[in-house]
Amino acid sequence: MTAPQPAARTVPCPTCGGPSAYSPANPYRPFCSERCRQIDLGAWASEEFRMPTEAPPDDAEFGDPRRQD
Ligand SMILES: [Zn+2]
Repeated sequence: MTAPQPAARTVPCPTCGGPSAYSPANPYRPFCSERCRQIDLGAWASEEFRMPTEAPPDDAEFGDPRRQD
């Protein structure tokens, strides 16, 4: 019996963009490592705790008051 070897699929790691083995052998998939997984989880956590108080730099409209002809 010749069972085909399951080809280890490689996907880009969401954190570092590096090759990550998307297989049961990689418990951190789709991340390439535990570190990248933790970084991603941390990013999510800080996003949740961050308050959207910062106003976007939107002064381009009033950048040049002499624009009126
Ligand atoms: Zn990674």
